[in-house]
Amino acid sequence: MTHSFDALILGGGAAGLMCAIEAGKRGRRVAVLEHADRLGKKILISGGGRCNFTNLHCRPENFLSSNPHFAKSALAGYTPQDFIALAEKHKISYHEKTLGQLFCDRSARDILGMLEAECEHSRVSIFLNTNIQKVERAMEFIAHAPNAEFKAPALVVATGGLSIPKIGATSFGYDLARQFGLAIREPWPGLVPLTLSGQDRERYHDLAGISAEVTVSCNGQQFREKMLITHRGLSGPAILQISSYWKPSRPILIDLAPGAEVTAAFRDPRTPRNLSTLRTELRKLLAHRLADRWLEARAPASWTNPSLADFEKQTHAWSITPTGTEGYEKAEVTAGGLDTNELSAKTMEAGKVPGLFFIGEVVDVTGHLGGHNFQWAWASGAAAGRAL
Ligand SMILES: Cc1cc2nc3c(=O)[nH]c(=O)nc-3n(C[C@H](O)[C@H](O)[C@H](O)COP(=O)(O)OP(=O)(O)OC[C@H]3O[C@@H](n4cnc5c(N)ncnc54)[C@H](O)[C@@H]3O)c2cc1C
Repeated sequence: MTHSFDALILGGGAAGLMCAIEAGKRGRRVAVLEHADRLGKKILISGGGRCNFTNLHCRPENFLSSNPHFAKSALAGYTPQDFIALAEKHKISYHEKTLGQLFCDRSARDILGMLEAECEHSRVSIFLNTNIQKVERAMEFIAHAPNAEFKAPALVVATGGLSIPKIGATSFGYDLARQFGLAIREPWPGLVPLTLSGQDRERYHDLAGISAEVTVSCNGQQFREKMLITHRGLSGPAILQISSYWKPSRPILIDLAPGAEVTAAFRDPRTPRNLSTLRTELRKLLAHRLADRWLEARAPASWTNPSLADFEKQTHAWSITPTGTEGYEKAEVTAGGLDTNELSAKTMEAGKVPGLFFIGEVVDVTGHLGGHNFQWAWASGAAAGRAL
């Protein structure tokens, strides 16, 4: 059976639904083709079930891309305020958790429900359990599912990245791009815990569950947030953020006491210069077990000023080389993706293939933690939806 539309949208996630709503509002006959048995599964599990749906301070600097300017136009065309206005229209109650991150008060289901209601209002046709396996282009695009085919002059690829394969992530978007001769920036898992092995793992793994506010840096980027020690390595917001910038076999630098001077008390000549005093000072800044373990590994060689200065320096610049990441099973996003040089920054349409659009996570634009990835999905989806 063949279904004809003005535009086909492959993938009923955040980007695909926003694109469908915008195009539908403008009277286009749009179909969303989704291989799962329901829409927006990632929305439902996002933000610990409360969906961190945007960030008040979202700026182009919050994104990684081989072209840092690419996202600017779409982000300016659909802002966090635009999404907030939509959420408020649907009476979704929300709160700011920290650093401009907006979460639902109740549940991520509110956001998905809102998008579904908007799709219905815009007369968007939704096809679930529709696994698109092949796309051809003759006069129009033809998308083939096992029991049906869909035709339209425009096709939007919103199939997301490779993260969390168990809820439906596929490489379909990248495969399709290659089929049409479009370049891909090799994808890698982002916002993902880092793993340690050997001595480093031995030394810290039993501290799993302990966290510390740190500044972590690598590749010219730095983040000051919480770090969490895990059985396999390091996690927590600071590590997730830096993981998107980390490259295999490179060290990361961790400041365990940002903004503090651990050895300040030793400037007072009355302060006894010994391990017990240093432990007391370090325990004011770090969880006791982490402080003790750090001292076991890095106690000053002596109690001279240069030795104390060296200890201070090391505590602010712990260089540790992760041996890997926890991979796409645990990654919140996929970095890399469709090369932005292939797309119009205004409409997300591929220059070489008129009528073919790419939006959301499949594109080489990856947000920092904190609602930026959804903002990119909404903004790129809206940009394409307005161009259909
Ligand atoms: C655990 C977790 C928590 C997260 N929390 C947040 C958060 O709080 N805030 C935030 O900003 N970001 C968060 N993210 C990231 C965010 O979910 C993604 O960046 C965003 O969902 C990307 O939207 P998308 O529409 O591009 O892709 P997706 O949401 O992945 O949607 C792609 C859709 O395409 C479908 N599909 C794939 N292949 C095919 C095919 N061949 N045929 C038909 N359909 C197909 C998939 O089933 C899926 O529904 C989180 C991610 C994870 C994994």
